[in-house]
Amino acid sequence: MSQLTTVEVHRLEQLEHVINKGMKAFLEVGSALAEIQASRLYRAQYLTFEDYCQTRWGFTASRGRQLISAVEAIASLPEDLPQPENAAQAEALAAIDEDERGDVWRDALEEAEIEDRNVTARDIREAAERRANNALEKSLGEANIDEVKQLFKQLLTSIDSCADMAQQLSKTSAEAWLLTSGSALLKHIRDARDHVMSARPAAVCPECGGEGCKKCHQTGWVNKARLNSLKPNR
Ligand SMILES: [Zn+2]
Repeated sequence: MSQLTTVEVHRLEQLEHVINKGMKAFLEVGSALAEIQASRLYRAQYLTFEDYCQTRWGFTASRGRQLISAVEAIASLPEDLPQPENAAQAEALAAIDEDERGDVWRDALEEAEIEDRNVTARDIREAAERRANNALEKSLGEANIDEVKQLFKQLLTSIDSCADMAQQLSKTSAEAWLLTSGSALLKHIRDARDHVMSARPAAVCPECGGEGCKKCHQTGWVNKARLNSLKPNR
């Protein structure tokens, strides 16, 4: 490694200060957006959150939701752990299932501590991978849930993007042609979203304990509706 001149050292400090501020701002933007969305503070001037993000700030609602979920990921961490300090860590954590997130964060922090350095987004991804690899002794239901969970999540994100795009298109001359027998494209997309939402795994099948039975179509897991219908009888 080669030495920096005094001028360069100073310049590096300045630039790193900029990066640091940007990361803090990212988190502040996310939590501001979350509050605006939750309280619908955009409602006096904009019909939807999508509309608000696009028109007021020029970014898509998907990007807005991404910022919000990064901030929510931080809020969901156990209180005894230090908070992530930057956007990359927050986004890496947001990509992890909520019920695993705290453990993954703890693993990543420990790993960095052992090596006596700052924790990185890469530590988080590697910790998540290690946990996934360790989870071999699982029932069919648990394994199947793991297999589909991320895909469901990605599909929902994609559907949300479709909704955003359909909304944009509906504000153009195409709107007149986007209506089919009294129902607009956006409604079809929302119906598809509901369909996917209701199909998601809710739990390991309580009937067979995840081994696979008639009630869970031999998958070892059930969706929310099936879970509710099985509960009262047990
Ligand atoms: Zn079953």
